[in-house]
Amino acid sequence: MSKNGKLIVVVAPSGSGKSTLIKRLKKDFPSLEESVSTTTRPKRKGERHGEAYFFVDREDFLSMRKREEFLEWAEVHGNFYGTSKRFVEGRLASGKDLLFDLDVQGVDNMKKAFGEKANAIFIAPPSIQELEHRLRGRGTEAEEVIHLRIENAKKELLRQDDYDFKVVNDDIEGAYTSLKQIISSILES
Ligand code: ADP
Ligand code: 5GP
Repeated sequence: MSKNGKLIVVVAPSGSGKSTLIKRLKKDFPSLEESVSTTTRPKRKGERHGEAYFFVDREDFLSMRKREEFLEWAEVHGNFYGTSKRFVEGRLASGKDLLFDLDVQGVDNMKKAFGEKANAIFIAPPSIQELEHRLRGRGTEAEEVIHLRIENAKKELLRQDDYDFKVVNDDIEGAYTSLKQIISSILES
């Protein structure tokens, strides 16, 4: 596989504000393309197939996995998520810089595949209580799903100092400024 473009992997417990920050990044760094993962998670209101995700059923996901179409895949909060090999190979071969939004298993696998070329940034919430407050405030998940995501967040937070960079998303403006600086430094390196 060609390894020309830069790879930036953002990892964060659900509810940390990762999507909010990535949305802003995409406006400020229009050349940075986000990898569109495939998932079996049900679509949230307003989500469209092919934008943040390709939505498939479990059977299709398992067939794709069997055909080795994923660069990495993981089961997260009870659903499958996978990064498309073809999508990444094509973009990297043409020198594109790519942004990935993955869970901790995904980052670990990207590090195994790409080593130092994969730059990993952990976005942490200021506290578990604030994360819970944000998840409830977002109102996109049922109560039992919120519970599961909080329990997983506690485990993911144990890994917060294992990556190349860390941003605590307390005040959104401060967090975004730090993240923007990190991305600029990676892209210029
Ligand atoms: P994630 O993608 O990490 O699951 P979201 O970006 O969807 O998280 O953010 C979860 C909720 O928290 C959203 O309702 C978002 O508007 C809100 N949020 C994000 N960042 C902050 C912040 N710094 N302070 C307060 N609320 C925030
Ligand atoms: P959500 O359901 O909130 O969109 O995402 C849940 C979790 O799955 C997040 O931590 C997100 O980063 C992760 N995720 C999304 N796509 C992928 C993927 O392709 N691979 C892996 N390993 N994790 C993913």
